[in-house]
Amino acid sequence: MDELQARSDQYETVVRVAAGIAHEIRNPLTSIKGFLQLMLSNQSSDNQYSDIIFSELARIETIVNEFMLLAKPNSEEALMETDVVDIIHYAASLFGNQMKQQNVQLEMVMDSTIPLIKSDPKRLKQVFINLVKNSLEAMDNAGELLISGRYLRGQRELEFKVEDSGKGIEKEQLKRLGEPFYTTKEKGTGLGIMVTTKFVESLGGRIQYESEVGVGTTVTVTLPTNPK
Ligand code: ADP
Ligand code: MG
Repeated sequence: MDELQARSDQYETVVRVAAGIAHEIRNPLTSIKGFLQLMLSNQSSDNQYSDIIFSELARIETIVNEFMLLAKPNSEEALMETDVVDIIHYAASLFGNQMKQQNVQLEMVMDSTIPLIKSDPKRLKQVFINLVKNSLEAMDNAGELLISGRYLRGQRELEFKVEDSGKGIEKEQLKRLGEPFYTTKEKGTGLGIMVTTKFVESLGGRIQYESEVGVGTTVTVTLPTNPK
C-alpha cells in the first residue's frame, strides 16, 4: 500500500470514528436539553427529570472515559510484575453488591501455580471489570459466574475464562462483537468489548468468545507470561 493510500485510509477511519462519537454523545445531550427545558417550564415539578438528566450525563461520561482509555499511549513503562489473579479478585469484588442483588453465585478456580507476569495492571483491571460487567448484565436474576485461571507452562501462557449462565449471544451477533457502538442494551455504549480486545492485544494476548443462546457465554483471555 502506498503512503497516500494509507493516509487516506487513516483519514477515513478518523472521520468514521469521530462521526460515531458525535452521534453517541448527541443523543444524551439532546435528551438532557429537553428535560432541562421541561423542568424550567414546570416550576411545580419535583425532581422527576433530574434522575434522567444525571443518567444521561453519566452515559456521556462513560463514552468519553472509554475513548480516553483507548487513546492512552501504549508505553513500555506501564509494564510491571503483575499478579493477574489478584487483579481478577479485585475486579470481581467491585461487583459484590450487584451480585448479591442479582442472586449471582460467583466461583473462582485458580491454579496455585499461576506466576506473576510482566503486564499492565491498569489495563488488565479494566479488561476484567468489563468482562464481569457484561456477564452480570447478561444474567437477569439468579445465575452463575465462574472465573478460572490456568498456567499453560509449555505455551508460556496464562489462560483465564469468564463463564456466565446468562442469556447468551446469537451467532449473527457474535461476529459483530468489538465493533464500535455495537450494543443490544438500552443503556449500553457498545465500547466495552472494543476497549477490552484492544487492551488484551496490546499486552500480547488474545481474546475469544463462545456462546450459546439460553445457556451462557464463555470469554477466554490468553496472556503471554513474557510479552515481546
Ligand atoms: P455494552 O455492554 O455497552 O453493550 P460491549 O462492547 O461491552 O458494550 O458489549 C457489546 C454487546 O455484546 C452487548 O450489548 C451484548 O449484546 C453482547 N455481550 C457482551 N458480553 C456478553 C455476555 N457475557 N453475554 C451476553 N451478551 C454479551
Ligand atoms: Mg459492556
